[in-house]
Amino acid sequence: MEKYLSQLNEAQLEPTIQVNGPMIVIAGAGSGKTRVLTYRIAYMMSKGIDPFNILSLTFTNKAAKEMKERIASIVGASEAKNLWMGTFHSIFAKILRIEADKIGFPSNFTIYDSQDSDKLIGAIIREMQLDKDVYKAKQVRSRISSYKNSLITVRAYFQNTELKEADAMARRPRLGDIYKEYVDRCFKAGAMDFDDLLLRTNELLTRFPEVLAKYQNRFKYILVDEYQDTNHSQYLIVRALSDKFQNICVVGDDAQSIYAFRGANINNILNFQKDYDDVKMFRLEQNYRSTKNIVNAANSIIDKNQTKLEKIVWTANDEGGKIKVHRSLTDGDEGRYVASTILENKTNQNLNNSDFAILYRTNSQSRAMEEALRKRGIPYRIYGGLSFYQRKEIKDVLSYLRLIVNPSDEEALKRVINFPPRGIGQTTVDRLVVAANGYKRTIFEVMKNIDKVDIKINSGTKNKLQDFVTLIESYQVLNQTADVFELAEYVTRTSGVLKEFGKDTTPEGVTRVENIEELINGMKDFVEGQIEVADATGSLSEFLEDVALSSDLDNETEDDDEVALMTIHLAKGLEFSNVFIVGLEEDLFPSAMSMNTRSELEEERRLFYVALTRAEKQAYLTYALSRYRWGKLVDSDPSRFIEEIDEQYLEVLTPIEERRINPMLSADIFGDTEPNKIRYKPAKQPAFSKNKTPKKAPEKYVAPTAKKLKPMAKAESGAPNLFDNKLAVGNTVKHIRFGTGEVLKIEGTGADVKAEIKFQHGGTKKLLLRFAKLEVI
Ligand code: ATP
Ligand code: MG
Repeated sequence: MEKYLSQLNEAQLEPTIQVNGPMIVIAGAGSGKTRVLTYRIAYMMSKGIDPFNILSLTFTNKAAKEMKERIASIVGASEAKNLWMGTFHSIFAKILRIEADKIGFPSNFTIYDSQDSDKLIGAIIREMQLDKDVYKAKQVRSRISSYKNSLITVRAYFQNTELKEADAMARRPRLGDIYKEYVDRCFKAGAMDFDDLLLRTNELLTRFPEVLAKYQNRFKYILVDEYQDTNHSQYLIVRALSDKFQNICVVGDDAQSIYAFRGANINNILNFQKDYDDVKMFRLEQNYRSTKNIVNAANSIIDKNQTKLEKIVWTANDEGGKIKVHRSLTDGDEGRYVASTILENKTNQNLNNSDFAILYRTNSQSRAMEEALRKRGIPYRIYGGLSFYQRKEIKDVLSYLRLIVNPSDEEALKRVINFPPRGIGQTTVDRLVVAANGYKRTIFEVMKNIDKVDIKINSGTKNKLQDFVTLIESYQVLNQTADVFELAEYVTRTSGVLKEFGKDTTPEGVTRVENIEELINGMKDFVEGQIEVADATGSLSEFLEDVALSSDLDNETEDDDEVALMTIHLAKGLEFSNVFIVGLEEDLFPSAMSMNTRSELEEERRLFYVALTRAEKQAYLTYALSRYRWGKLVDSDPSRFIEEIDEQYLEVLTPIEERRINPMLSADIFGDTEPNKIRYKPAKQPAFSKNKTPKKAPEKYVAPTAKKLKPMAKAESGAPNLFDNKLAVGNTVKHIRFGTGEVLKIEGTGADVKAEIKFQHGGTKKLLLRFAKLEVI
């Protein structure tokens, strides 16, 4: 047997060497699903299957890259090079480029990112003179996106009375018209948005049987990772392509399905067996990633979900430390706790920054974390915020490049036509748009023929427009001989972009220029590194495609030692030694917007399961009693998810007040002015959610002053119990889950007070009073 196969356990080996026929691997987190896919591809190649015939779809490009590297280390780099591996979007963008003419697109079509789409939709709403407060561009985009992902084209929309009525009921009767205009304008601009990459692929495969046959014959073997999060559009593509040979292997975990809000359909995994004949189903049960404590805690959480496939997950790994639960007063304190804990562990255990990840529910939570990390000089990196390529200065440069490749690109043109300023005002641009619509031509074509078209623009401005056209055309000529790097360098210099940003000598301005330099350096790497990639040409349009489809996660440089900050959604499939899950508060996680139905709440719980299962060695759960949200300080309850973990896996830490007594960990030695403390106003702020039970607890705290930290007398005298359960042995109490019972024993102090309670049904349990919301009856 090949040596690498010995790195798999028996359960993993089976699906790895089963190459033909449809099969599904359903297994919990960290059980080696991704490893099976990787080794399976290596195995297939070692058995003589042409890599050209293998298509592998991953959740991120980074995952694809890592898999490819691993495969290359087994079968050799030159062989691995020919594999088609990547996200749905990047793979099908490539196919669409090859087949573009069939569906009326130029092969150099632009890919609009969400910013471009928002701008275009905003412009359409303005042009239609609709109320922009009713028709919010972002909301309209998400609506259009969900139509596209359900394959509801404009025509299908207008034939569907129900949809039309629903939008009319939501006071947006013109939504269909916006949808139509948006699709037309993208088409005219030779542009596809992210959803189009899937929708148009479906169109291509349905309308052109010969194209379908071509790719069916090419991709004789198809593999999909994270199958639980495929949406309908992706599902149909996989289904169509695998229909002929049915050599399809999907892996996934229903417990990690977290993209329903973006159209992912968990039924794709549940119904897989119905979709193909003789499906082989495999299960993996051993987790190799995490400690026993983490695995067991995660199991105890997901157990609370009703909708799930029963699975066993166990591990032979060490027991590990208990999951640490920490309470802070404010979000600022929470950040300080996380930062000082990282610092402490780094020193004590000799760890790197990259051994830590901070995961949160929403992007806005990163701010407090960043602030604290910065103050302690801990290098960090935020993933998934505004990606490098979406920064203003970078988009400006890229827009020039996009325009060179595709002069029809309306959004790119609007962005740079007057940047740097060349005296072409908004009115002129508006008139160009109207004229372009009237003549059914692109704006660039109208500009090229500005003397011939009927348009109210004075001759001075007309000259400026012609100069701009000449500029872009001169770049197009250069693009025929120069490589991406040379071209970009020339463009940034001669267009005046660098000069314009150079005028700004503030630190922000300097950073912008540095970013442009970084972009250009990246192009050099692209040009030099091209030989590594299958079917690569190193062309400008290829570079732009890479950029449009790269997520922040993909641009990691190997040697950076940084703490990783990201949303849980982004962390799927990844693993880190130490994981902080922060902001574990009701209405934040679970999110206030996801508590209306059981299925929404279950998705939040799956998200929590994903978060916890990222941790290899140690997990921390943190929450704050109050937090700034939308400019207001709001009180918060600890998340129900903390309570849901079987408490034997938890270690509830000393409250923050006691920690502060240690001067080495105290915030003030870092010159921290404790801004959040100044703002702290106990209990006076309106509660964030109307349904929330008002709490008295924060009143118990004396808000420390900014100048001097109090010696925390409260904590020493036994930290107050959050829920103020005045319990005594012999009391009869009621618990939401376990019902009525009698208090047998009370032990511990401060936040650690536990009560042993004998419940009428469900036996005797030891409960932490701060979580167990008990009612004395
Ligand atoms: P997730 O559900 O989070 O995507 P997964 O099921 O894809 O997880 P992997 O990422 O493939 O799991 O594996 C988890 C970790 O365990 C990885 O570090 C992997 O290298 C390791 N691993 C998997 N199988 C084995 C094995 N048989 N021996 C040693 N290590 C293993
Ligand atoms: Mg995986």
